[in-house]
Amino acid sequence: MIDFELDETLEGVRDMLHWFAQEEVRPIALQADRDHAFPDAFLRKVKEMGISMGALSRAEDSQKRGHGAKTVNRIAVIAGEELAWGDGAFLLSIPGPGLGGPPIQFLGSAEQKERFFGVFSRDGEPRYGAYGLTEPGAGSDVAGIRTTCKRDGDSWILDGAKCFITNGGRAEWVVVFATSDVSKGREAHRAFVVEKGTPGFRVGKIEKKMGLRASETAELILEGCRVPDANVLGASDKAQGFMGAMKTFDSTRPMVAAMAVGIGRAAVERAGDHCKAAGTFRAGMKGALLADALATAMRKLEVARLLCWRAAWMADEGMPNAREASMSKAYAAQAALEACAASVQAMGVAGCAGDSLVEKWFRDIKVFDIFEGTGQIQRIVISKRLLEGLRSF
Ligand SMILES: Cc1cc2nc3c(=O)[nH]c(=O)nc-3n(C[C@H](O)[C@H](O)[C@H](O)COP(=O)(O)OP(=O)(O)OC[C@H]3O[C@@H](n4cnc5c(N)ncnc54)[C@H](O)[C@@H]3O)c2cc1C
Repeated sequence: MIDFELDETLEGVRDMLHWFAQEEVRPIALQADRDHAFPDAFLRKVKEMGISMGALSRAEDSQKRGHGAKTVNRIAVIAGEELAWGDGAFLLSIPGPGLGGPPIQFLGSAEQKERFFGVFSRDGEPRYGAYGLTEPGAGSDVAGIRTTCKRDGDSWILDGAKCFITNGGRAEWVVVFATSDVSKGREAHRAFVVEKGTPGFRVGKIEKKMGLRASETAELILEGCRVPDANVLGASDKAQGFMGAMKTFDSTRPMVAAMAVGIGRAAVERAGDHCKAAGTFRAGMKGALLADALATAMRKLEVARLLCWRAAWMADEGMPNAREASMSKAYAAQAALEACAASVQAMGVAGCAGDSLVEKWFRDIKVFDIFEGTGQIQRIVISKRLLEGLRSF
């Protein structure tokens, strides 16, 4: 049974993160967008404060704070919404393993977890992990990756390129997915942890993006890059890369969906305040139309939040949640996109101005229907699962 009440501890986490988002993140978000980065000193402070999105991969962290591991995914969606309410690009810039954490958590040995997660507590410097799946010719078509891995003695040789990798340029290590036989699709995928400085591994261009500009997105190139057996994730005699890549999404999609809810909510609140101050809602038919547009947007965001919570709760309970994770992502990305569009519309020129956060959120939100699986891909996952269910019915 899903409980819609947050307990005292979860409420405390939410309130603390909301305060941080409002007081520390919002005031610098526009400048970070223009600079294409958050200041290093600020990221160091974030690290010192112990704010980390590594919660997914570090369940023990939450246990130390008094939660059981069973609330880890719920904490992630609550944190995702509140911090993205402050700024979406900030959340992606929080030091830690990021998307690279879950495959290590799912497939890694105890020694690998110790070695790769240990990097983040080495000193006070902001350090990152990354997740390298997408390639210039393989985004949605994950099974079609062309980065190859060939066995050579007690190591593997990787060749290929990855693109649009969040924090890829500054990561201490990247979980890279490669295939030992391109003709075999997903059956031949393996996951490797490639460490910064490994010969044959280099960073290509840093992308200039429409939105989420303060989050670094990089191209990565692998040319005869030798990775030892000790850095292969999963059983050495089995190709488990595809499973690791997909399991990652089951736990991260609800959080990414919750981030979209946070950005949409921020935009509607800002537009509502603007319209109230301008007396717009008292302006007869125009006021009624705009009030209804914002209220409709908020209603959809609340539905999206419940979908996120359900998917996260199922993950915490150890239940298969691929369909529900995709439902939350498909619905929330669209609802938030509509919310940001309605907010710009309601504010008119004030919403389009270059120094307006609503303008930035409108640019930021589009990518939520693209990364972590596009809207179309989520719909395919949902349809397949629904049809399987119908067959058994
Ligand atoms: C800001 C940002 C950060 C990112 N971070 C990472 C990261 O850290 N790691 C990583 O590995 N990747 C990352 N990505 C890449 C992201 O996951 C891909 O962009 C995404 O998977 C879509 O792939 P694509 O862009 O190649 O689009 P394509 O797959 O080429 O799709 C183009 C269009 O075709 C549609 N389409 C494709 N296949 C089908 C189909 N079978 N049926 C119906 N429609 C279809 C898509 O929905 C889309 O509308 C990031 C991307 C962005 C923009």
